Amino acid sequence: DQKDIKIVGAPAGIEGQGFFATKLDEVVGLARANSLWPLPFATSCCGIEFMATMAATYDLARFGSERMSFSPRQADMLLVMGTIAKKMAPILRQVYEQMAEPRWVIAVGACASSGGVFDTYSVLQGIDKVIPVDVYVPGCPPRPEQILDGILTLQDIVKNESVRRRSSPEYQELLASYNIT
Ligand code: SF4
Repeated sequence: DQKDIKIVGAPAGIEGQGFFATKLDEVVGLARANSLWPLPFATSCCGIEFMATMAATYDLARFGSERMSFSPRQADMLLVMGTIAKKMAPILRQVYEQMAEPRWVIAVGACASSGGVFDTYSVLQGIDKVIPVDVYVPGCPPRPEQILDGILTLQDIVKNESVRRRSSPEYQELLASYNIT
């Protein structure tokens, strides 16, 4: 327990949790959360809102995510925006599988989250049918503020999760439920 940590010779008030005893999890979480590199998987209208989110007015760069990655290997955060046809689902899944750990997924908008208005045989009724999702952003389309809110929500998740979460039994079980190794 960090409350028990005593630092010999330390002036009063700088002992204990939150100072010398800052946890590794918190430092790594802070660094990760503020440098999430996005991979935009945009198939339709919601992608246009993401372009606005990147532009000067909303300026996603303020949150450390200005560096687009169109290579899954160099991306941390998969942003799925738009209608995903069932024929496209294996490609989305392949992109996810090609991302290195740690990796996170945001379903942006109604189509990515649930199929949206396209309740039809050819459209995937939510990307969580094929890959795990960390954050869902509602809207058709969501405004840039909502997309930013989704990214900030993900930042909170990243900051508060353990560095070792990815090797935890729960996460491994989640991947196994999607048959992802
Ligand atoms: Fe287009 Fe609405 Fe679907 Fe977004 S949620 S891709 S705006 S139809």
